[in-house]
Amino acid sequence: MLHISTHGLFISSDFVIFKGMNLAPDKPAEFRIDVPLADFTTIHLGGAARYFVACQKIDEIISAISFYRTTGDPMVVLGGGSNVVFPDHGFNGLVLKVELKGVSFADDGDYMIVTAQAGESWDDLVKVCVNKCLAGIECLSGIPGTVGATPIQNVGAYGQEVKDTIASVKVIDRGTLDMTEFNSSDCRFGYRSSRFKREDKDRYLIVEVGYRLKKRGEPIVRYQELNDFLRKRENGAENTETKETNLKAIREAVLTLRKKKSMVIDPQDPNSRSVGSFFVNPVLGNSEFADFLLRVRSLSLDEPPTFSDGLGTKIPAGWLVENAGFHKGDRRGGVGISSGHALSLVNYSGTSEELLVLASEIEKSVLDKFGIKLKREAVIIE
Ligand SMILES: Cc1cc2nc3c(=O)[nH]c(=O)nc-3n(C[C@H](O)[C@H](O)[C@H](O)COP(=O)(O)OP(=O)(O)OC[C@H]3O[C@@H](n4cnc5c(N)ncnc54)[C@H](O)[C@@H]3O)c2cc1C
Repeated sequence: MLHISTHGLFISSDFVIFKGMNLAPDKPAEFRIDVPLADFTTIHLGGAARYFVACQKIDEIISAISFYRTTGDPMVVLGGGSNVVFPDHGFNGLVLKVELKGVSFADDGDYMIVTAQAGESWDDLVKVCVNKCLAGIECLSGIPGTVGATPIQNVGAYGQEVKDTIASVKVIDRGTLDMTEFNSSDCRFGYRSSRFKREDKDRYLIVEVGYRLKKRGEPIVRYQELNDFLRKRENGAENTETKETNLKAIREAVLTLRKKKSMVIDPQDPNSRSVGSFFVNPVLGNSEFADFLLRVRSLSLDEPPTFSDGLGTKIPAGWLVENAGFHKGDRRGGVGISSGHALSLVNYSGTSEELLVLASEIEKSVLDKFGIKLKREAVIIE
């Protein structure tokens, strides 16, 4: 075990590489060696991290980064581990787990600015906001992981995305150690994407996110499946009913729908040992979409439901997977496809290698049959 303190370094025999470094951080950070990673992830895969540090304070993060980066070895920032797959052989670098905690509320007229530290549980935050009748993130109920990861891929579900409410994202530049605050447009959000996942991948560590939520806000239900569910529950009431439906009812409905698909982490549900959707829904330009439709018709398949916006036409990746010959509940050794959701690859008792072989098999079949290259939503660490 290694400690960094204002008095110098306490170095285990494994840590001679850091001998002689002279740091004077404000707070001690404890580096651990050979820490198994599987149970820090929701898919329970991966070997050990060569080094591991959990940071509860910003000082600790800055100390750990400035201490470690001089080695030139790789570093991975970890939140709740619900969107990462580590390799079976482990990670030969530092895993820095963000455990910053704290939530504050500030009035902003008809809105409330809710500022949460990166290590807060996302779903706990949603619950608190729903209970306070703050609208804007209720459809994002049940998504595992931490607040700090939500801007990375612009977390979204059931017609809402965090980009709709994010007001600020406070980050540490891992290179300069400067702290910067971005507004929503600075983050360059896209569908399951942002600058943090694209051009600035691995550049910033997010320490805090501010969300601007509507006080006593009316829920806005944009997603057909959720709308249908709510209407059925209201005994066939008219569409306007959903507008009156309160935020708690939306949260409960979303959680019910998600549980049916094993999209809520439940230790009793083996199908929830996943990273959620493994692939994102492809968004096709006009000519790609035309090619795709030709293929669908030549195969005498029914056309999938599609969604068009200014960016193109979104095709459900689950439809592609199922029509490329894979089925919910399929197994390949210790891994498989969730019986609740065709996009969710599950680890029952397998390995990262098995999982990635299955993912590649699916990608190849979808490409061969539909000419579409699936993009992985999950972060695969090498
Ligand atoms: C059952 C299930 C259902 C899911 N449903 C959805 C869904 O409906 N919609 C959706 O969008 N996602 C969904 N996901 C994916 C996942 O929950 C989200 O992407 C979530 O935001 C990841 O949070 P995390 O803290 O677990 O991140 P991690 O898995 O720990 O990390 C994910 C990525 O973010 C980076 N990262 C994490 N924290 C920080 C930080 N503080 N600063 C910088 N980088 C950081 C990591 O380096 C990594 O690249 C689901 C996952 C599961 C297992």
